[in-house]
Amino acid sequence: MADQRLVYADPCDLDALRQALADNDPEHKLCPIQMDRIYIQHQAIELLPDIIREHAKGPKVLMVTDATPYFRGERSLKEEIYFLLSRTFDVRWLVLDNHDHVLHAVDEESQKIQQAIRAHEADCVLGIGGGTVTDLCKDATHAVSDEMPLIIVQTALSVNAFSDGISIMLKNGVKSSLPTRYPSVLVVDLDVIKQAPMERNLAGYGDVMATWTAPVDWYLAYRVGMNQTYNDPSCDILRTQNAQLLDQSAKLAQRDPETLHLLARVLTLSGLAMGIAGESCPASGTEHIITHLLDMSADRQGRDVAFHGAQVSIGTIFTAIAWEILLSEFDPSKLDLDACYPSEEEMHGKVQEAFQWIGQEVADECWSGYQKKLASWKACRPRFEDLLAHWDELKAELQKQLVAPEYLCKQMHAAGAPTRYCQMTPPIDAKTARWALLNCHLYRNRFTLSDLLYYIGWWKEDFIERLIARAEELDAGL
Ligand SMILES: [Zn+2]
Repeated sequence: MADQRLVYADPCDLDALRQALADNDPEHKLCPIQMDRIYIQHQAIELLPDIIREHAKGPKVLMVTDATPYFRGERSLKEEIYFLLSRTFDVRWLVLDNHDHVLHAVDEESQKIQQAIRAHEADCVLGIGGGTVTDLCKDATHAVSDEMPLIIVQTALSVNAFSDGISIMLKNGVKSSLPTRYPSVLVVDLDVIKQAPMERNLAGYGDVMATWTAPVDWYLAYRVGMNQTYNDPSCDILRTQNAQLLDQSAKLAQRDPETLHLLARVLTLSGLAMGIAGESCPASGTEHIITHLLDMSADRQGRDVAFHGAQVSIGTIFTAIAWEILLSEFDPSKLDLDACYPSEEEMHGKVQEAFQWIGQEVADECWSGYQKKLASWKACRPRFEDLLAHWDELKAELQKQLVAPEYLCKQMHAAGAPTRYCQMTPPIDAKTARWALLNCHLYRNRFTLSDLLYYIGWWKEDFIERLIARAEELDAGL
């Protein structure tokens, strides 16, 4: 049975969590949580002067935001923080803005922060915003010095990117998880969160829906020998509190303060689960790669990227359906094992065909990841054969980790969360969604359910149509 200290982990008590993790890590696989403090509470903004005094060696603060307005009561949150800090500190405020309204986590933006750190000779960086501002601040301070105190004020419960040491950056047009650094301190002011646009908080709720598929993909990858980082504690800190959140989804629609608080906790824990695993696998599986493809195509199609978490939750519905079909219909005795190992030439052609329309650079970047995955998959053939021989055992284990797609959709509807790609802002058309579903497995060196389904010959147009039809029955999908 899982350690109850992990099951009910409180992200604001990092010392207790570290102790529980150490007691459940016999192989010393877990990465340290390199954060000093996490605050999730009312009036947390008022703590900022003390937090900065405690962490920064001098008075120079670089404040980094995007251009999105946020409020606390009647007042602008960012201005309020700026004036609050300016009484004591020498604050320079850098506003990141992008030509096409949406800030992207690209090197160019990170460079702007790095230049400002140097120009201001900053003693600490204060990032205020969502996942992109956070990822950029993590990347920029990592490039300058990991000793630089980084304090993040989370303005909405939009993604789980706030409490880990990874940045999702756009590199050569491809989204990549790069190891960067943790924030030193994370500040979640529940009064700010309550006023955040509902669609942003619902996006965070959508991002943690991945808890019902990503850890299962991760465990599968581990069992077939395609991943070595799998650990139970990363999953233990997610499952139970996420189940509580899923159960009380309807209260989210009413902005119930306790439910928002629970969402803040599980989002933070989801970041920590990735942090201790040292990679994003505990919170990122098939549902995320579908999303990454949609984002990659957005630029080429000249559309803004929809909320990450909202897209992820729809990917989760499709992935949960795919898991359900696999576990109910797969019969290993009927499998043609040799056919599960396609040639490099064949797969190179598939990757080119899938991504060339976005750009040759993108196709090449995807192939460099995929090529490694294909080689590992071939090397792991004995493990896969062994797994097939014990399929019923594995199936029973996997079934315990999954949630029925009906229940997922029912609760998402109760939360008022979107369940279809056409409900995204801006909407994603059916053709693009079909392309992302069909080709998601070709995109990088991470083994997920979609790879297994491809290699056993299922992940093709007709299977994707089946997923779409099943989602449609649940008032979800395209
Ligand atoms: Zn995510």
